[in-house]
This record gives sequence, C-alpha cells and structure tokens, in this order.
Amino acid sequence: MTLRVTRRQFFKLGAAGMATSSMAMMGFAPEPAVASIRHFKLTGAKITRSNCTYCSVGCGVLLYSRGDAAINNVDDIYHVEGDPDHPVSRGSLCPKGAGLLDYIQSDSRLRYPQVREAGSDEWKRIDWDEALERIARHMKDDRDANFVADDEDGNTVNHWISTGMLAASASTNETAYLTHKVVRSLGMLAFDNQARV
Ligand code: SF4
Repeated sequence: MTLRVTRRQFFKLGAAGMATSSMAMMGFAPEPAVASIRHFKLTGAKITRSNCTYCSVGCGVLLYSRGDAAINNVDDIYHVEGDPDHPVSRGSLCPKGAGLLDYIQSDSRLRYPQVREAGSDEWKRIDWDEALERIARHMKDDRDANFVADDEDGNTVNHWISTGMLAASASTNETAYLTHKVVRSLGMLAFDNQARV
C-alpha cells in the first residue's frame, strides 16, 4: 500500500534524517517529489518567511539562504518560492513575485538610506538613525510652520497639507491601520498607499 503524503510533508519527514530514496522504498512515494532532484539543493538551507514587496496583494514567500547567522557571515539568498502556508496566496506567486530573486540580487537595489543635500547633485549614504532623525526634524519644522487649526470661516479643520505620506505596498492590514492613525493624527491629508505597481 502506498501512503499518501503531500510534497511538503514528504520533505519534512526527509529532513528528520532519513534519506528520501529509502522512504520511497518504504512506500512514501509522491511521484513529483521523487522525480525532482531539484529540491535537494534546498536541503540545509535557512528558510525565512517574508512578503513579496511588489504589490498590495502581499503574497507570502519563503526565502532560502545559506549562512548560519554568525557574526560576519552574510546570508546568501539563492532560492525564493511561494509560501504554501500563507493565508493570502497559499503558495502562489505571479510572474513578478516569482522573479523576486533577481530583484534581491540586483546591483541597483537600494539597500540603505541616502540623502541628497540641498544644492547637491550627489546622493550620500547615511545610517538609519540619521535618516529617521532628519525625517522627524523636517516633518516637525514643516508642521509647525504650516499647520492650520481653523479655516477662514472659523471652522476647526486641524489640517497639515504641505507634507504627504506614501506608504509601502506590502504592508499588512495592521501596519496600514497604524500608519493611517499616525498620519491622520498629525493632521496630514495627502496620504496614499503604493499599491498599484
Ligand atoms: S506582485 Fe504578484 S507575487 Fe507579488 S504580491 Fe503582487 S500578486 Fe503577489
């Protein structure tokens, strides 16, 4: 009798130390898994759950990397696939998501904050602390200068229309909700979510 297991269950069993070929002989025989040697390249990889960055669908992805997280050891992501346990996408990815590996490894990918000073035509690298400090400083100064409490007719409006917010496309509902609360509590009206790329 052949025991029916899913491909995922099959590889979980394999990870417990038993060679998959032996398992096949014992009756665990999902044909696609046995036929596909491709999957052995993932043995021993570290798996990290994440979200596709491209659009508001927010499909779940599994990132496979080498590296043991030791100091000075840089993770090397070498395979990306859909997360079958993700409640939104159930393992599916559109062509953009399926091509995420190229995006991750692209030479032109932005990996750290940069600033172009007023009057300069060059971007310079800064760290996250400086970036957040500068953003907060700019926002505070602009809000202090341009916040409008009452309109010309004396109606309370409490709005700030000289700064806007563009939120990330891969935010979860919870992140988007909190972002919305923060932005609106400042009186900002120009707010959108980058969800249509
Ligand atoms: S770009 Fe494709 S894979 Fe990525 S979140 Fe949108 S639908 Fe999902």
